This record gives sequence, structure tokens and C-alpha cells, in this order.
Amino acid sequence: MLLTNCLPIPNEGIMTDNPSDAFPPGSPLSFINEGLAAGRRLSMRAAAGRSPFIPPPDLARVLLRLKCAAGVGGANILNQEELFTGGYCEACKQPRGARSDASLRIRFIDAYSWRYGGGLAQVRFDQRISVSLLYFSEDFLALLTPQEQAQFYWRRVENLGKGKKTMHELIGSQLHVPLAALRGGNPDTPQCNRCGWRRQPQYDLVGELPAWLDPEDDGKRRDQPDLYIYDR
Ligand SMILES: [Zn+2]
Repeated sequence: MLLTNCLPIPNEGIMTDNPSDAFPPGSPLSFINEGLAAGRRLSMRAAAGRSPFIPPPDLARVLLRLKCAAGVGGANILNQEELFTGGYCEACKQPRGARSDASLRIRFIDAYSWRYGGGLAQVRFDQRISVSLLYFSEDFLALLTPQEQAQFYWRRVENLGKGKKTMHELIGSQLHVPLAALRGGNPDTPQCNRCGWRRQPQYDLVGELPAWLDPEDDGKRRDQPDLYIYDR
């Protein structure tokens, strides 16, 4: 089981290549035209960096379907400075080092979050999200088989606010799936100059998708997953 957020990205009709979608000059929505045009320019630029790679038919198939679980509750972190052995990068605010021995201390963001089977606690600097920590309720853990529970490392969360359930932070896993970019794609992966941290490949623009995922290049996101597993 992979515990992550893998909701499909909804179709973005805005990224069409057809200029006839533009709002008329007098329309109160005509300011959107500029954004559409910028999107097309970026899309073309990204498409120019794509390789013509097309996978052979025997590889172009869905290899795995993953079961996913993600909590919907939310919690504020009360001790984010204690959570990583190397603190946080001054430039990109990503954590450095390993997860420390400190327990995650939280207060739920509302009166309902403690009732859910899990949720997100996010490290933030001036509202900028650095890293999201996942926690799951004791009820949720009870649904896992002993073997499934044992594949992950859990640590009890200290809840300093209201809420009766005990939560457990997912602090590690024995299963590791390396991040990989889609072959032939042109993802957006900016890198931090100071610490070298690189964001996972993201395909925000249609033109950044590899040609084999968007063969018609019709400017529309299909019902594509946002996680891919590469089977060697
Ligand atoms: Zn950095």
C-alpha cells in the first residue's frame, strides 16, 4: 500500500490551443486572454524540449494500480523547529537532515479534524508550505494487517488541543519508490541553489507532457494519473 495523495488532477480546459476561446475585448473576463496566451507560449516552449520518444506497445500499459489513502483532517504544528536534525534550508525552506527523535506536537485546525482517519500537518514559513507530514488515526492503523503496519514506521503524535483520538505520524517506510521523470517529457523541476533540493517532476503545462502521453497535442489534459511507477 502506498500512503499518499494521488487524486487525479482535474482537466484544465484553460490550456486549449484554440485562440477562438478568447473572450471578446469588451468582456469583463477579457483579462483572462492574457493568461491564456501566456499559457500557450509556455506550452509551446516546453513542447520544444520534448523528445520524440514513443514507448513500444508492450511497455505502454498500466503496470500497477495502487491503493491510496490520504487523510482529510488538518493540524497546526507547534514544534516545527524540532522536527529535522538539520533544520530547514534558508533559501527553499525544505527540511535538512533526517526526521529527529522529537514527537510531532499538534493542535487540530478545527473541531472536526480529530474525527477523521488521518490528515496533514504542514510546516509553513510565512504561509509558504515547506513539507507536509502525514498522520493517521489509531482507527486507521487498526484496519491494516500486522504485515502492512510493519512496513511503516509510526510515532505517536502529541495533541495539545482538543480531540480524543490518538494519531500516529508516518515517519518512515521500508518501501521506497524512487522519483522518476516521464521519458520524453519536459517537467518543471526547479532546483534550490543553496541546498540542491529539487522538486519532484511536475507537469503543470500541457506542453511539458511527453509526446507519448499527449500524442494529438490537442492541449487537453486527459484523465492522467499524477503518479507513475516505473517497473524495471
Ligand atoms: Zn534549499
